Amino acid sequence: MKRKIAAISIIAAMLLSGCQEVQDTSADVSETSNSESTTNSINSADLSTAAQSTKTPEQSESGGAPTVIAPNFKSSAPEKESVPEVEDSVPQVEESVPDNSDVSFENSKPSSLPVNNTVVENGETRTVASGETLEIAEGESLEVEGELIVESGAVLNVLNGGELFVESNVKLEGDIVLSEGGKLTMTHDTAKIEGAGSVVVKKDFEQVNCERGFINAHIAPPERVVGEDGATYVGGIVIANKAITLPPEYGSDLSLDEVYPEVSAALDEMNAASEHQYVNKSGYRSYYDQQAIFQNYCDMYGYDEADTFSSQAGHSEHQTGLTMDLDAFEESYGDTPEGIWLANNCWKYGFIIRYPKGKEDITGYTYEPWHVRYLGKSTAKLVFYSGLTLEEFLDIEGGTTVID
Ligand SMILES: [Zn+2]
Repeated sequence: MKRKIAAISIIAAMLLSGCQEVQDTSADVSETSNSESTTNSINSADLSTAAQSTKTPEQSESGGAPTVIAPNFKSSAPEKESVPEVEDSVPQVEESVPDNSDVSFENSKPSSLPVNNTVVENGETRTVASGETLEIAEGESLEVEGELIVESGAVLNVLNGGELFVESNVKLEGDIVLSEGGKLTMTHDTAKIEGAGSVVVKKDFEQVNCERGFINAHIAPPERVVGEDGATYVGGIVIANKAITLPPEYGSDLSLDEVYPEVSAALDEMNAASEHQYVNKSGYRSYYDQQAIFQNYCDMYGYDEADTFSSQAGHSEHQTGLTMDLDAFEESYGDTPEGIWLANNCWKYGFIIRYPKGKEDITGYTYEPWHVRYLGKSTAKLVFYSGLTLEEFLDIEGGTTVID
């Protein structure tokens, strides 16, 4: 225990050393223009229930550019030309004649459309028009192989037991709402949801599977909740930061520097894929370890300075068992080949660099290019491509120092 504290004390000195700039490439959430390319309009009979458009507060803009190196979507997937392709082979749908609509999209039922296993065919464009709500109910699914347009003011609501599969393109200017139990799966590497609209996650990030494809739109997170274990969660993601604390016994099934099995498995997978080898130098840190460490720093540097780089008890993300310090404890690590590879690639294995440079006021922590947080592949990818910190992505406070 004392030995551990001594070792960590060295880190503090290292933290104060200088560093170089890290490449800034912000994730470009590209604007997609409104398209008029409507071939089939998905009708919704009961628009009175359409007021589900759950707009969340705008995510706060940080002062500086994101330090996360996020590729530009436009380079990885060519911009979709919004040229309508009205094909003769598409079943004749006359928008104004309800009884003649596509069987899959007929408006014979109010509010919940019978989209049972419906496919938007390759080459076909369908639109959920402004003011409309399309619901995918239990046991139903919608597969987008062509193009689906959700106009501004339109809602595609995936209800409990429903699923939306995106193989190609969704132009999202309105909202895709994933009600509790509703799922969204990106099924191909080139799958893309893009636009100024939002994917609204009502319950849990496990509702979204974005291991393949890209979601280049605002992700509106669920409300934060306190679990039975006393920890704070947003969409199933456990939170520990300077504003949100973990209860003393959280993670007590782990021993010092251990991590949960999914985290070590992800580290192994990353090491197998990388030319570099990353080593867990510090994993789980109990509440009581944190107490001792913080007191030690206070003795060395004074409270105010200690508080800029060390966590008070219950506030360290290391207590989650989902966090590791890899390799070095120096800011310059971010400029080494290992550090650069880690920043650019760790999301593929479910990690994010938790405390990016230039985001100290948001995360409450100094830049730590060695500190990774495991979120799982899909969510890590969403966070990485958002160019946001976890605090911004989840719309939670982080930088406020809590003195308790
Ligand atoms: Zn750390």
